[in-house]
Amino acid sequence: TCALPILAILTMSGILDARPRVGYFYTGKNTLGLLQEELSSITVEDIKSVPIVVSSEKSAYDAAITMFLEDVGTVFVVEGPEGLLHGVVSRKDLLKAALNPGSDLHQLPVAMVMTPLSKIVTASPEEPAASAARRLMDHEIDCLPVVRLLDQDPRRLQVLGRVTKTNFTRLLVELAEGKGGNYHS
Ligand code: ADP
Repeated sequence: TCALPILAILTMSGILDARPRVGYFYTGKNTLGLLQEELSSITVEDIKSVPIVVSSEKSAYDAAITMFLEDVGTVFVVEGPEGLLHGVVSRKDLLKAALNPGSDLHQLPVAMVMTPLSKIVTASPEEPAASAARRLMDHEIDCLPVVRLLDQDPRRLQVLGRVTKTNFTRLLVELAEGKGGNYHS
């Protein structure tokens, strides 16, 4: 324990560090650097939500119903018993399909309106949350599926969750309210 509580506070916050025979010294980190350090330790796993999925045999209508019932803007299309990622359907994909003259969403397979696997941008659970946020911005999309490669095969992606703009808004609010510590398990 420190003789002076202020030294304890500054050491705990990372602004000062202490070494035997050296004593207290300034770490050179300003508050922005400390926030950056805090953020870099928060991973996609820490902030992700559960994935909302629809089976690839379903219709575009079923995907729209899932969006309403689950209150999400993006639904992942999955295939087979392992729930492998097959595509992504967003609000705009369904809107576009619905606006097609003579279209019947009941008869339209969801696979016809989805963005296919080959074009999907994903996140991995271990990566820093900020790098996934950068990917959302760069591709101008709302949601990334959080995936794990099965059998080292890039066409076999198991869906573990989703990260959306909402997750990043929540993270920002929690950091602003001083609740960033909740993320360290
Ligand atoms: P919205 O439809 O509400 O604008 P997005 O901006 O997320 O939602 O979607 C825009 C387009 O990008 C859609 O065609 C959608 O299928 C596609 N898309 C959404 N998420 C991804 C993703 N993770 N990877 C690749 N494409 C995506």
